[in-house]
Order: sequence, then structure tokens, then C-alpha cells
Amino acid sequence: MSERKSIKTTISQAVDYWSKRIDECGLSVDWAEAHTHCWRCGCERNLERCHIIPDSQGGEDAPRNIVLLCKRCHADGPNVTDPEIMWDWIKAYSVPFYDTFWSILGMKEYQFIYKTSYAKDLADILAAANLEADDQVLGEIKEIIHEEMGKAGVHFGHPYLNTATMAGINRIVLKTLAEKYNVEFPTKREETLPTTPWWIQC
Ligand SMILES: [Zn+2]
Repeated sequence: MSERKSIKTTISQAVDYWSKRIDECGLSVDWAEAHTHCWRCGCERNLERCHIIPDSQGGEDAPRNIVLLCKRCHADGPNVTDPEIMWDWIKAYSVPFYDTFWSILGMKEYQFIYKTSYAKDLADILAAANLEADDQVLGEIKEIIHEEMGKAGVHFGHPYLNTATMAGINRIVLKTLAEKYNVEFPTKREETLPTTPWWIQC
């Protein structure tokens, strides 16, 4: 989805309009940095001016109908005629710290795939190996992530790692740790989790 060149509303106008109407507490972005950071994921990116109500459905070119999103979030955003839904969506995804959004989404994807949380799996592995989450272990985790991210980036050639890749890297971290410390993984607990299809749980 590409931004229409004809949009006249400026980035400043959109920030000025919305900063007076929406509380930044419920957002991933601080209004002071909303000229440069995506309003949904909070990452510093080139921002696209996105219609809240699509122009194809009569949405106007005015600050009240424009939000600023990165290319990736723009592609994911709702294109509907009820203007409240854009803000419902942006607020639902808010995170408290910059540069954590896509990692957290990777954890959400991990939980969706494996029916257990990354944090719980990591805690189980550390407990079984009699380890604490100290600087050494955290350093090892960072090293594995760094290595896997490098491989994934080169292999796929995308400007970013998608959520399935992030979830996969999380999984590889756990497998690598478990192997290094000779701990069984996946655990028996995971094998006995209910296997209701995801489309029934919706
Ligand atoms: Zn974004």
C-alpha cells in the first residue's frame, strides 16, 4: 500500500490535531516524538500519512482523518468507514517502551504457535539447568538472538523480520540453551497441552 502523493495534510498538522485529543498514555508513541515515530509500533521510521477512513470511501484529506504510521503498520491497519476503529486498533497494540513492539509481537506469535509462553519455557529450562537469569545467561541469549537475526536478515532480504521469524528465533534460543545445558526441551508439559484448533478458540 503506498501513500498517495496528493495528500495535503502535513505531518505537523496531524500531530498537532491528534495530540490535543488523544492521551499518549494509551499509545506506543509520545506526542513529542510523534513526527518521527510510528503511532502504532512506536518505532522511528519514515512515516506515511494514512487515511483513517480510506479516501476511496469518502475519507477526507484533513488532520482529523490522518494518522502517521510506518509502512509496515500502514499495511496492517484497518480500512473501514467507522473512524473509531483505527484508534481502537492503535491503542490495543500500545507498548510502554520504544523498540520493543516487534519483539513483543514475536512473543505473541510464539505463544500462538506453541501454546505456552516464551517466558515460561525459558524459566523451565533455567530451573531444570539450575541456572539463574543472570548476566551470563542473558549474554548467551543475546548472542544467539544476534546470530540468528543476522542469518534471517541475510536469508530473506526483507527490511525487517516478520513475526513468524521473531517467534522462530525465540524458539531457537530455547532449543540452543536446552541443548547446551542438557535439558529436555520441548518439555513433557508442552506435549500434554490441549490441542484445540486455533480457529475454534476464536
Ligand atoms: Zn509501525
